[in-house]
Order: sequence, then C-alpha cells, then structure tokens
Amino acid sequence: MPPVTEARLIEAETTRQGCLSKMAIVPGEQGEPVRYTLRAGEQRLDLNARLGEPLRLTWTGAIACTHCGRATKKSFAQGHCYPCFKKLAQCDTCIMKPETCHFFAGTCREPEWGERHCFQPHVVYLANSSSLKVGITRGTQVPTRWLDQGAIQALPVLQVDTRQQSGFVEMLFKEEVADRTNWRAMLKGEIEPLDLCAERDRLLARLEGGLANLHERFGAEAIQVLEASPMAFDYPVLEFPRKIVSHNFDKNPVVAGTLLGLKGQYLILDSGVINLRKFTGYEVAVA
Ligand SMILES: [Zn+2]
Repeated sequence: MPPVTEARLIEAETTRQGCLSKMAIVPGEQGEPVRYTLRAGEQRLDLNARLGEPLRLTWTGAIACTHCGRATKKSFAQGHCYPCFKKLAQCDTCIMKPETCHFFAGTCREPEWGERHCFQPHVVYLANSSSLKVGITRGTQVPTRWLDQGAIQALPVLQVDTRQQSGFVEMLFKEEVADRTNWRAMLKGEIEPLDLCAERDRLLARLEGGLANLHERFGAEAIQVLEASPMAFDYPVLEFPRKIVSHNFDKNPVVAGTLLGLKGQYLILDSGVINLRKFTGYEVAVA
C-alpha cells in the first residue's frame, strides 16, 4: 500500500477552499524538478502530483487582505486592501525602487519594519528567466526569488549591506542588462542556457568605475563580490504552451483544465496560463 502523505490526506477531502497565497516552491532533490505546493487558506495541494490531471480553481468572489484579513473588493499590490496598501512600508514605491529609500529623511512608513527588512544584507544576482536579467533580493529569499520568477539559472554576484545599496548597484547593472522577465518567453520554455559566470565577469569589468564610486560612498566592506557557483533549476512541465492565453479570475471566476506544467508563479493548463501571485488573497475552491 502506498504511504499516506499529506497530499493524499488532502486529496481525500471533497471541498478545499481558502484564500490563495503564492505557491510554495522548493528546489528538487538531486536533479529532480522543483516542487510546487498550492496554498489556499489552510489547504495544501502537491501540484507536481497533479500534473497531467484536471484541476479546477473557482473564485468565490471574495478577496481577503493578506495583511489584516479584512474583506476588500479589489486587491492592491498583490493581495492588500486599500488602507494597508497606503499604510504599509512593504507596499511603498521604494520597495520596487530601493534606490529611492527615504528612511533617512525620517519618512519611512514603518521605520521598525524598515530596520528589520531593508537594513539587512541583500544580494544582487544575475538570472536567466527569459534572457539575462539582474535582480536584487534579501539574502534570506534565495533561492525562492529565482523560483518565483521561473529562472532556469541564477548566480549571486554581490552582497550589499542594505536594500538601498542593492538598488544603487542594480541601477548600475541596468545600464547593461534588463531587470524584467519577458513572462511570455519564460512560459514558452525556449530559453537558451547562459554562461552566467562569464556574464558576471564581463559586467563587473564593464561597471568597474561605477562600482568604485559606490565603494567610495558606502565603504569597501558594504559592497562585496561573492564567490558563488551558478545554480540551475528544472521545472515540472509536461508541455509548454505554443500560444499564451491568460486566465483572469476577475473576468472568469472558473479556471479549469488539465495541468500541463508549473513555472514561476504560473500554472500552465491546457486551457491557458494563470499567474497565481497576481491573485493572492482571492478565495478559491480547489477541485
Ligand atoms: Zn489590509
């Protein structure tokens, strides 16, 4: 008899309903594809085990703020109600553009939160999601950040002392490299592998002057080149879509089809794709 796993126990229940969180994605063991868990309220569903099978998500029409739990008609900044969106530091524009950090102007929305999250070591990395891109993340978010983006390769390049510094370094890299993923290309899966170490060496040489300026401003200790090895990720995909059609709960509350793959925060169904992160806080029934 097969062992009783958490997934099997959940399978035994008939209705599963709850508010969506972003999918939990963890690297696979020993060359296995990465592993995906759907999270809807207290419900957990092992999605790798559902590949090739029908999956149906039905939005009930409710959205709960992921921060305060209040009902909200519309979701702001991936799952927040409007008051939280206006009040929380994590929803401020400086999170997306860290170089605009205004902590030292005394205007941080939540200085204590800022100290805990922004005044922590951050990593500037190169990744290959649809092509070469630069990105930043808090040290603790490695490798989650790359998996959320559907990167097939990633390489940490520099470690810096604060989020703001990571923003300045990223600005510098953006003179030479994109910072966005072309999600359609990412989902089509025809991504050429890159030599990320060679790209790193090329970029560090090209940006030497700019990095020297940042060292002068923040101190040599604050911004350090890492000696890291590139990582590669394999996603559980039976079949990549040839044409990308997007599902959207706001337009059609029923998202159903055969699950063909998982990449980034997307479900790839035979009927279309859906970015579940976009619908964080949406209450769905899973069948
Ligand atoms: Zn809220």
